[in-house]
Amino acid sequence: MTTDVWDRLFSEFSRVYAATPQLQDFCPFPTDIKPQNVVAHDIPARALLESDRGLTTRAYTGLRDAFVAAARHALWRETYKGTDIGQDFLDRFGCYCLIGSGGAFSSESLFAYVVYMPPGLHYPWHDHPAEEIYFVLAGEAEFHRQGHPSRVLRPGDASFHASSQSHAMTTHDHPVMALVLWRDGFATSPKLT
Ligand code: FE
Repeated sequence: MTTDVWDRLFSEFSRVYAATPQLQDFCPFPTDIKPQNVVAHDIPARALLESDRGLTTRAYTGLRDAFVAAARHALWRETYKGTDIGQDFLDRFGCYCLIGSGGAFSSESLFAYVVYMPPGLHYPWHDHPAEEIYFVLAGEAEFHRQGHPSRVLRPGDASFHASSQSHAMTTHDHPVMALVLWRDGFATSPKLT
């Protein structure tokens, strides 16, 4: 049953990847992907995601719905637990891994996550050695990158973050769901800047 949920999600992920040059240009689709066991871990953002009706999208309904369907089986990350980021962020920010540590699949060349933020949340400035792309699947958010003006991104839009380039994200009236890819630097977690 759980396997079916992950297989469906992987299938939708692969389909979007194959249709999206921005993702392929960031990292060729891995050839070494293997399934692995997930130890589910729940956080409050999971229920917020499941009940959110504002994740509007056209091209990505299949992948959006597959990420939501797998939410209750996922290991939700608590990257910022124990930092001074604040309880509201910890209660409402959501991220789980699809490919990589804690995810349902492994690869040596690509980590893939989903990030969810409800309306009216600010993800403060942070950085990491990993090169990263955010690809918006549903809803919208304002993206901030060190050295660039802020931009509102919607489904099909992407934000690239170079190694150690500080970045942040803000939702206003809408929630956002984004696919996040890392192509290196897997060993080091993000830190607030
Ligand atoms: Fe990042």
